[in-house]
Amino acid sequence: MKVGIVGLPNVGKSTLFNALTKSKVLAANYPFATIDPNVGVVNVNDLRLDVLFEIYKPERVIPTSIEFIDIAGLVQGASKGEGLGNQFLSHIREVDAICQVVRCFEDGNITHVEGSIDPLRDLEIIKIELRLADLDVIDKRIPKIEKKAKAKIKEAVLEYDALIKVRKMIEEEKHLKDLDMSEDELKMIKNFNLLSLKPMIYIANLADTDLENPESNHFYTRLIEKANTEGIQVVPVSAQVEYEIANLTKEEQLDFLEAYGLTASGLDEVIRSSYALLGLKTYFTAGVKEVRAWTFIDGMKAPQCAGIIHTDFERGFIKAETIAYDDLVEAKTPQAAKEKGKVRLEGKEYVVKDGDIMVFRFNV
Ligand code: GDP
Repeated sequence: MKVGIVGLPNVGKSTLFNALTKSKVLAANYPFATIDPNVGVVNVNDLRLDVLFEIYKPERVIPTSIEFIDIAGLVQGASKGEGLGNQFLSHIREVDAICQVVRCFEDGNITHVEGSIDPLRDLEIIKIELRLADLDVIDKRIPKIEKKAKAKIKEAVLEYDALIKVRKMIEEEKHLKDLDMSEDELKMIKNFNLLSLKPMIYIANLADTDLENPESNHFYTRLIEKANTEGIQVVPVSAQVEYEIANLTKEEQLDFLEAYGLTASGLDEVIRSSYALLGLKTYFTAGVKEVRAWTFIDGMKAPQCAGIIHTDFERGFIKAETIAYDDLVEAKTPQAAKEKGKVRLEGKEYVVKDGDIMVFRFNV
């Protein structure tokens, strides 16, 4: 799962990205990798892993992770090739969700491409660029299938109708989330990787002095009002502060946070929100060797979840032994949970729940 960090230049994208990928606390004791300078794998902190550690006392604990990509090059006119233009667009099409960094901090030394701080204008610029880029894709495709659609070839009719509907929504600046489409049409549209259809959150990048009371920053309050009308979540952070604390020890971090009147780093919230935005859930495998968190997509059934570990597990799936996290915690040990009848044997149709502890049985 990939999350793209976008925003206009000099809003704090790279600072946030570096904080996310360099944070020692997030990476503590866990494998961590930076794939390339603009792609980083970030562990998803999950307090339940600490609890499972106490129960199973495993040799190691492996959290689940998501990938963040620092995507530069979005400027006014990007869809027309300004800035990094096409390069930017090809990167952003690959992501599953978008974190849009919105600059709410003022700093005379750091110029804003548009000459002033104005989050709502920035949002608008980006929205327009994303929509123009989508229109471009649609307008290139429509002439290619128009003839086939007129000849009533089924697949082409489906695609053509779907594209026309999306085009209209984009032109009317309607929420693509509210698209009235059949399952088949939606599937078809998914292939186009349209940017306006990707789930998004706003990261309000605040000055360190605003952290204690973000509402005192009128850029931030306006951003919240706007986001509420769009149904988009806003996560306040100071990218600069996050970056500075990323390299401190845990104790130093706590002191640092306290000095800003904070109890937790904003990064965890960015990661958690991204995870939720993607509709991601976690199941666990647990034993004396290893306790591990696995990411699955809400709604997946047991065999598919088994397939995340290994394709053989899915192919040969027989049953899954399952304990709900809360049941295990209440029983205190897997043995006690079993005695209480809390260990269920689930079949192929079982829809896995967030927090389930799973043992898969399969044929090879
Ligand atoms: P990008 O172009 O969006 O990736 O922006 P950068 O992350 O490179 O940040 C541009 C400049 O703004 C850098 O000099 C950062 O140190 C600075 N910056 C980023 N976040 C903050 C912040 O919260 N407060 C202040 N004062 N400066 C910041």
